[in-house]
Amino acid sequence: MTEKPDLTCYCSVCGRTLQYGDWQSPMLTDAVWHQIVAHYALTGHEKRATEFYQRSSAPELSDRDVHTFICIGCMEKALQRRLTMADVTACPFNKEFVMEYFGFTKAEADDLCGDD
Ligand SMILES: [Zn+2]
Repeated sequence: MTEKPDLTCYCSVCGRTLQYGDWQSPMLTDAVWHQIVAHYALTGHEKRATEFYQRSSAPELSDRDVHTFICIGCMEKALQRRLTMADVTACPFNKEFVMEYFGFTKAEADDLCGDD
């Protein structure tokens, strides 16, 4: 029996609980992501986190411990508009997001984001 890994992570802005890889924190294009990160003055956040990760002797630390996560609500607050398809990268990671958020069907999401 394999234990389900704990994938809890937190929005770096409001602190709300997310799951690593869940659709509430989609992957954005660099331009939009940087705009949001700059809005919240989080530019140094990932850098500091990476430094901490490299210094740390805790090998159990993973990507999700150091990465910046921002929830959809905080993304849209920074942009002052709703997210659009042009804001998110076309990758399998975002498949669930485009289905949940834009209401695309599984087949449409496969077309948009590519197969796993
Ligand atoms: Zn948030």
